[in-house]
Amino acid sequence: MKTRMMRISDSEDVRDEELREAARILRTGGLVAFPTETVYGLGANALDEKAAGKIYAAKGRPSDNPLIAHISSIEELKPLVREIPEVGRQLAKAFWPGPLTLIFPKSGRVPYGTTGGLDTVAVRMPGMAVARRLIALAGVPVAAPSANLSGRPSPTTAQHVWQDMEGKIDLILDGGPVGIGVESTIVDVSGEIPVLLRPGAITIEMLEEIAGSVEIDPALTGRLDPQVRPKAPGMKYRHYAPRAEMTLVEGKAEAVVREIRRLTDEQLMAGRRVGILCTEETREQYPRGILRCVGARSDEETIAHNLFAVLREFDDLQVDCIYSESFSQNHLGYAIMNRMQKAAGYRMISAR
Ligand code: AMP
Ligand code: MG
Repeated sequence: MKTRMMRISDSEDVRDEELREAARILRTGGLVAFPTETVYGLGANALDEKAAGKIYAAKGRPSDNPLIAHISSIEELKPLVREIPEVGRQLAKAFWPGPLTLIFPKSGRVPYGTTGGLDTVAVRMPGMAVARRLIALAGVPVAAPSANLSGRPSPTTAQHVWQDMEGKIDLILDGGPVGIGVESTIVDVSGEIPVLLRPGAITIEMLEEIAGSVEIDPALTGRLDPQVRPKAPGMKYRHYAPRAEMTLVEGKAEAVVREIRRLTDEQLMAGRRVGILCTEETREQYPRGILRCVGARSDEETIAHNLFAVLREFDDLQVDCIYSESFSQNHLGYAIMNRMQKAAGYRMISAR
């Protein structure tokens, strides 16, 4: 298949003419990658099992890992769900359009081929105007997981999508680099109490302000017990991972720098290529190794924004191992550390 790349103007001033071809492809069962405020999505008609099947094939995604259906207005929610629990209604009202995915009991219209065989459906109304306009023009809800090969870091630019999807999909809409850089927060509102399944830019503090108390899925607190069937099936797969072995180093700032320098020297002596993931605050302190600065600790949004691009860069640089600083798990830091721990396969050491 020949994949086309089409540059579009970003967000508010996008013209319908720029999106018509993409909307036509979605309506007729094809695949289109498009920007959202979180990461680039790989879209297909969520109501067409065959089209959704093409997403799994292009990504190499296991068929029991469900897709998120994207809508362009709140009226499009009702046909997809069996009921809208009050807490779901409140969270949607507070955070849509935006980086929040809600899990509802699914209606008969949503095929099991989209939900990975589950009786629930994940729904999000994206904050980026381009994405909403595209969905509206397509006239169907759009299933759209991140537009990367399964297991690789999520794409935050159209070039990342091209690296993974060239030859596998019909069209890539290039709307420039995304804003947030990590995937949406996921909250299951199908049960008694809302449950956080994936942390994102809508933080627990923000959710609890609207929903009262929110539970945290046990699978989020650490490596998954293979006996436990996770609520978000995506949790059991290796995710966001660079090709090199990555290790997170935690502890006091000076101790972390010292330990990463020591480990780097050790690996260099053994003839290996070493990547170091550092921050603006520490970049001057590593004399050796291939240094990439992920952002500033003083502004965590920059870290979320750059994280996946830096992991991909380490792949391009063909490093053998990566040592990374860690971050506090408060607010956006929780989402950042969740992605970093997965990228590192939960390899973590404490520096003293
Ligand atoms: P992705 O869009 O690739 O980041 O993946 C979508 C995420 O949403 C995966 O981790 C899924 O497990 C999760 N998800 C989608 N639908 C459901 C559902 N019905 N119940 C629980 N988790 C879901
Ligand atoms: Mg993904």
